[in-house]
Amino acid sequence: MAAKSKKKPSKKKSAPAKPKAAKSIKSAKAARAAGTDPKRVAAILAKLDEAYPNATCELKHENAFQLLIATILSAQCTDVRVNQVTETLFKKYPDAKAFVYATPSELEQEIRPTGFFRNKTKSVMGASKSILEKFGGQVPRTMEEILTLPGVARKTGNVVLGTAYGIASGVVVDTHVLRLSNRLDLTRNEDPEKVEQDLMKIIPQEKWIQFSHQLIWHGRRVCHARKPKCIECNMESLCYARDKTV
Ligand code: SF4
Repeated sequence: MAAKSKKKPSKKKSAPAKPKAAKSIKSAKAARAAGTDPKRVAAILAKLDEAYPNATCELKHENAFQLLIATILSAQCTDVRVNQVTETLFKKYPDAKAFVYATPSELEQEIRPTGFFRNKTKSVMGASKSILEKFGGQVPRTMEEILTLPGVARKTGNVVLGTAYGIASGVVVDTHVLRLSNRLDLTRNEDPEKVEQDLMKIIPQEKWIQFSHQLIWHGRRVCHARKPKCIECNMESLCYARDKTV
């Protein structure tokens, strides 16, 4: 019996399994950020609730259609600038039909201050036409349908469904959410759609809408891209970002 048991270790030595296992553990760790421990995530959510209990979308709008147009215009532009433009725009074009019958060259000049005005004019007019012809003049209420509108991707869909209809279809991943999710180690991805998938796995669905607003507010007010104001941040004790300033 003793002789038999001595032979066994030599068989194990030849097994090639170890390097593969080590590799798969490493890639699993990279796929899921260390900061996604449920207790830590809950603590971050509590801190965000404490700091921004009333965070909401800062694009002025009176209905889902106006929010859709404002969100299209907000690409690569500040909400303040978009609000200045839409204040007069929505008086002249109150609904989808009005935008469909707009004169493209006139509309281009009206939305010019928001940048990328030629593409935005095409998106605004194309989305309005689709809403009028396919959805009876109403912005659709599902992500699947809203993504059929020209110039509308998941970020815009999430803004409109979440803010205008209260439908938690996903997490809005704009430049602030992207930056802060990485700084807070809630994701290790850089692609917005992958970041959204990561966040949807660790944030309870009933918090998706508010969480997006809160991170955007925190990014605008405290956790700036350059020189975040960490000394003013109530999540400082939970944060180990490499570019922390305290
Ligand atoms: S501690 Fe600094 S880097 Fe971390 S979330 Fe707060 S402001 Fe951002």
